[in-house]
Amino acid sequence: MNKHLEQLIELSQVDKEIDAFEPQIEEANLQYEALMATKNGIANEINTLKQEIKDEQIKKHKNELHLAELSSKLEENAKKSGEVKTEREMKSLQLEEEIAKEQVSFANEEIERLEKLIDHKQSKIDELEAKAAEIDSTLSTVKADVDVKLARIDEERKEVFARKEALVGTMNQKGLSFYQKIRRWAKNTTAVPVRNQACMGCYMAVSDKVYSDVIKGEEITMCPHCGRILFLEPSDAIGA
Ligand SMILES: [Zn+2]
Repeated sequence: MNKHLEQLIELSQVDKEIDAFEPQIEEANLQYEALMATKNGIANEINTLKQEIKDEQIKKHKNELHLAELSSKLEENAKKSGEVKTEREMKSLQLEEEIAKEQVSFANEEIERLEKLIDHKQSKIDELEAKAAEIDSTLSTVKADVDVKLARIDEERKEVFARKEALVGTMNQKGLSFYQKIRRWAKNTTAVPVRNQACMGCYMAVSDKVYSDVIKGEEITMCPHCGRILFLEPSDAIGA
């Protein structure tokens, strides 16, 4: 096979390998990032619950103040009841007392309801905090695992980069810029095999002439339809 063609095919393979690291890095980070997202979600949930509890405590406090007011009013009424002279005064005092007692029971119910709500939310917070602590303990293990994976990927990447550098060093500028021009749009399909006499970049059939040029491999042949560099895979070459 033409040496320049061989280099171009090899370069396209190396570039493909380099591009393949990106999803590997993402994959390695995935579990860690998912855990972090869960942890952040829990922290947000806890904050919301804490804010709600604060609001409910303010409401509870207001009811308690109201209760204190009501009880002093009832005390006052009790004192006054000894001093009433007319039936009318008595009736109005009784009415006031009834209303005050109703308000007392309402305030008590409200306080009870709020306390239950606060308790419920507090136990939810405890639950969430336990979950967050659990995540924290796995997080460090996962992080260590990710670091190992990333270090290994980095090693492999360095090795591939070194291979690329060595390869590029042996190639001529003209061949390189020709390759790069195609790669700009074709990305990892810059050099593609021909299978069943079709370009595996655009999937169009190539003519007998182009096909036989590709089989010979004496020159760099481009797909007449899409302009990608064509080559024959080793197994096909044996068959041909
Ligand atoms: Zn093509």
